[in-house]
Amino acid sequence: MIIDPHAHIAPESFIEDVRQGRFGDAVTIESGDPWELLVTKNTVLGEERIHKNPLPKETYDVEMRLSDMANNQNVDIQILSVVPPMTHYALDAGLNRELSASLNDALTALTKEHPERFLCMAQIPLQDPEAAAAELDRAVKNGHLGCQIGSNVAGKNLDDPALDAVWAKACEHDVPIFIHPVDVMGVNDRLKDYYLRNFIGNPLDTTISIACLIFGGVFDRFPNIKFLVSHVGGFTPWIRGRWQHGYGERKEPKVHGAKDPEQYFGKIYYDTIIHNADSFEFAVKTLGVDRILYGTDYPFDMGYLAGAKDIPGLSRFSAEEQEQMLYGNVKKLYKLDV
Ligand SMILES: [Zn+2]
Repeated sequence: MIIDPHAHIAPESFIEDVRQGRFGDAVTIESGDPWELLVTKNTVLGEERIHKNPLPKETYDVEMRLSDMANNQNVDIQILSVVPPMTHYALDAGLNRELSASLNDALTALTKEHPERFLCMAQIPLQDPEAAAAELDRAVKNGHLGCQIGSNVAGKNLDDPALDAVWAKACEHDVPIFIHPVDVMGVNDRLKDYYLRNFIGNPLDTTISIACLIFGGVFDRFPNIKFLVSHVGGFTPWIRGRWQHGYGERKEPKVHGAKDPEQYFGKIYYDTIIHNADSFEFAVKTLGVDRILYGTDYPFDMGYLAGAKDIPGLSRFSAEEQEQMLYGNVKKLYKLDV
């Protein structure tokens, strides 16, 4: 039983709403080659941004998705989360409350249509933390297994104390929070060429989110909180020694009373998407087999879309360890009885 907790979807009902112009020029769809583009216009830290993100048909065509899962990936169950630009943190909070509820209801409808194949995580309007906590509460009661959030909230880091309402709600339900890069820094600046916005911007933003959660004291205020982070935690496994060294030397990382960073890496869960056998082996050995969960980033080209058992580096681990990473850990984190 292979379960993928990093699989994105744009529910067809949402795509239809966008095509009908329901969200004005804030969210539209443009033609593109080879894929259409989901275009979001918003403002991040006072800077107007137009995001054009590929919208492969697989993001909303459920039959293609089911076929890929069965024939190309050997994935039995996807834990669906929305396509990351659909987090919409830079849009009007009221509009995002409406969007989030509509997306979450579409996701639960899909899990009811295909109970053997799909589970889901909620989208929450994080720019309004109280509303986000309320939507998380409603979503979990309707069957969502947790939520996906961005690595920042329209340019604000995740150590913002206002987000405590969301962390508290996740702890109350004991559900995981999946952190995914969105609105990453540098996209209009030095990362604008060569797709560096993704190659570097995505793992960089995830790394910043982890550092802010640690040094911002979130793990101390919420010792039972469960975060799953994308792309093996970005750069975190490779630079953790730098944080540890700096913690001993500097006062800045202690302003919120955080303990030394090595105390926290073992509290976080990480997916497997790194595309290199040596890097994968290093990450698993340093973070711990019990912290690593298979994930694909379906259906995007930067994801790992080949067969689950062929992950580069996976064969370097024992059968028991592979089993843990491929399904034992995800079953435990999401409390799945499958
Ligand atoms: Zn992803």
